Parts: sequence; C-alpha cells; structure tokens
Amino acid sequence: MKKYLMTPGPVPVSTEVSLAEARPLIGHRGADFSALFAGIETKLGRLLKTSGKTVIFPASGTGALESLSVNFTGPDTKVISVSCGVFGDRFREITALTGASIVNVDVTPGEGVNPGVVAEAVAKNPDASVLLLTQNETSTGVFNRVDEIVSAIPQKNRPLVLVDSVSSIGTMPCYPEEWGVDAVATASQKGLLTPPGLGLVWLSERGWDAVSKRKCNNYYFDLMRQKKDLYKEAPDNPYTPPVSLYYALDAALDEISSDGWFELRSRAARALAAGIDSLGFELLVKEEKFRSPGVTAFFHPSGDTSAIAKSLKALGVEPAGGQGKFKGKLIRMSHYHDVRWPEISLALGSLYAALGDHRARAGDFVRRAFEVWEAK
Ligand SMILES: *Cc1c(COP(=O)(O)O)cnc(C)c1O
Repeated sequence: MKKYLMTPGPVPVSTEVSLAEARPLIGHRGADFSALFAGIETKLGRLLKTSGKTVIFPASGTGALESLSVNFTGPDTKVISVSCGVFGDRFREITALTGASIVNVDVTPGEGVNPGVVAEAVAKNPDASVLLLTQNETSTGVFNRVDEIVSAIPQKNRPLVLVDSVSSIGTMPCYPEEWGVDAVATASQKGLLTPPGLGLVWLSERGWDAVSKRKCNNYYFDLMRQKKDLYKEAPDNPYTPPVSLYYALDAALDEISSDGWFELRSRAARALAAGIDSLGFELLVKEEKFRSPGVTAFFHPSGDTSAIAKSLKALGVEPAGGQGKFKGKLIRMSHYHDVRWPEISLALGSLYAALGDHRARAGDFVRRAFEVWEAK
C-alpha cells in the first residue's frame, strides 16, 4: 500500500531531490566538492538573507542545537530559556548540561510566546548573556514571531539570541541578520525538504566574536574548527561530510526558493485548518497568528483522537501523534512539502473516513477548506 507521509520530519522529498542524492560520490577534498559546497552556501545565504556562511554538520537538529549550547554557554553563563513545548524544553536541557545557570520562562504549550514576557525576563536579568528561543514549536504547531520578540527586548547589553529554527527554515521567513538574531540552528529533514542527516548553524558577527573568545570543551561540535575550513577560498569540512546529502540539499534549495513558496505554505495551512475545524476537530493553537505554516496539531473533543489516528494510518496516511503532555492526545500533520489542493483534499477526505462514529458531526469540510484555499 502506498503511504502518505505527513509527519513533521522527516517530510516527503521530491523525485529531483532523490535523484540528486543518488548521484555518484565525489571525494570531499577537491574542487568538485568545494564548488558544490559553495553553491549551497550561496543558496542558503539567499534563503536566510545573510552575508556570513552556514556551518553544516553531519547531525540531526538536536546536534545543531548542541553545537550552539557547547560553544556559547558554560558554568560562567546565565541563560534565559523561553519554552512553549517539548523542543524548547530540549534546548534548555542541552544547555543546562554545559553547567550554565538557567532562568526558565515557560509559556503554556499550545500558546505562542508574547514578546512582552520575554522583554520583561531580559530586563529582570541584566546579567544573562544568552537568550534561547524556539521559532516553530513542532510539538504543538506554534509559530513564534522571533522578529517581534527581538525588537521588544531591551537593546542595551542585549543577550546573545540563539534560536531553534529546526522546523521553520524553508517554510517561513527566517532572516536572522535582519532581525538581530545571533545564531540559528536547523536540520535538513523538515522545511529544507531533504532527507535527515544534516544539522545547520548560522552565526552573526557578534555570535562568532563571542564564540571565538570562549574555549569549547567539545571537539566535534567546536564551531571555530568548522569556521576555519568554511571560510577558505575553496570551502570544505574538517571531517568527512555526507556528500550525497549535500547533493540532495542543493536540489531542495532550488524548490524552496521558487517564488511565493512561503505564501503557498501558509495558504495550505489555513485551508487545511478550516477543513479540520469543519470536520469537528479542535485545533490546539487557538490564536490564528501563532499557527504554524509547517505543521498543524489537532484533537477530537470526544477524546478518541488516538483511535482516529490509528484508523488514519490504516488508510495509508501517516501523521505524527502528540509529544510530552500531549502523548496519545494529538494528531500532528505536516505541510512543509509541496502540499496544494490535491494533498489537502486527500488529508481531509482521509480524516473524514477515519472519524468512524464521529462522522455525523462533520460539516461541509471540503467546501470550507476550498473557500479558504481559493481566497488565497
Ligand atoms: C525536529 C526538531 C528538533 C530535533 O531535531 P532532530 O533532527 O530530531 O534532532 C529540534 N527542535 C525542533 C523545533 C524540531 O522540530
């Protein structure tokens, strides 16, 4: 049976990306690899609107986050950690392992981060040198306005702003240089529409300056070792890179950079949300402006969410379930990839079938979703 993958990572990759990944291997110490790497850097620079380069680790998103924690923090660092879910908690946990002292700012999962709350925490902790944020909290489908948060925090002695953008880059604008963010971490298998295996990290000039003044107690994730090779005229890596994934990422970056891609993602999210609501589900994120363009989380008020998810999987549609306190209580559907009307109607039609006894409560979901889709 054909399976329709709708998990928020990994996401389905296009035929072009799969074919690129299957190209014959090349050595990683030579002109061909440097040219491939340099091309990827140019495309990433365009996507993030950044002048500096992006470090690429063979790692998952958690590895990319760990590289930030071990390079920016230690027992001498006070960190403000803002969390609105499982991934915000993870970034905090990784950072705490460096010995840093942490000030927790917790936002109810399912709700977005209010810039004023962060500004207050920064003002109250002038000795904190690092602030941790999550751009898109994948466990709840909350999208935080990092640009608004950074503008709201006091600019004097501003802490270094490190952002988990693992599930946002490629799906929604993320312009760290423009926004005054000092580091972002991401991974290949979500908005970047590439198979899993690459962890990416970008640093601002202020970020690099801070890192260069610290001793990193980690060999593999030491960012200064990466920087040396990254900034050579013909860039390469200190250790063996997964060359095939570089080919895949290079091809995927062309898809993401097509005109109107971000608008298309949020349009698909809004149409899907309208249909899900009309089917009788409840969307976890109540405030529309905090709803993620990449992933939508919802549940059935009857409490039968996990049974509905099971029926859905039996039909061949594979979303993810809840995490943390929402384990067994949520369905999370991703739309990072090229989801348009055919995929939306497939998802909604399958959800209708999976509703079982609750089908009678479903409204005119196709019409409602299509109205939103058509309205753009
Ligand atoms: C997926 C995800 C991670 C972890 O990434 P892995 O690649 O699974 O290590 C971290 N943060 C966010 C927001 C994510 O969505």
